[in-house]
Amino acid sequence: MPATAIYNSPTTLHAGLTCRCPRCGEGRLFSGFLTVAPRCEACGLDFSFADPADGPAFFVMSGVGILVVAVWAAAVVMFHPPLWAQFATVFPALIGGCLACLRPMKAWLVAEQYVHKAEEARWASLGVHGEGGFVFDRRKASEEH
Ligand SMILES: [Zn+2]
Repeated sequence: MPATAIYNSPTTLHAGLTCRCPRCGEGRLFSGFLTVAPRCEACGLDFSFADPADGPAFFVMSGVGILVVAVWAAAVVMFHPPLWAQFATVFPALIGGCLACLRPMKAWLVAEQYVHKAEEARWASLGVHGEGGFVFDRRKASEEH
């Protein structure tokens, strides 16, 4: 698609659940299990903006952990299952739940980054880190304005 094309963008939730490009909704977001592809194979969107860092891991481990532990606690109180049965169900539920939720959670956060144009903060007064040195002369700036 050319750069001027009008895209029928999916909702961030849809792009996340299907792990697709947040602009066109067609190209795959990931080139590995959690590795973001360099660009969209369908519309060419550069995915270099995508950096949710440890956000997906935090939300997934918190959400899955709370859910599984709540069900586990309720089951222990109601049914008194043997210890081996608790080990055999709780750990697979934690690991499987996290693995199942990580990709859509990361894709959803990348889609939210795309929609809200979220990126690392830049200081207008100092410029981009590494450019123009570290000293900011306030007198010079006040003369200019
Ligand atoms: Zn795309």
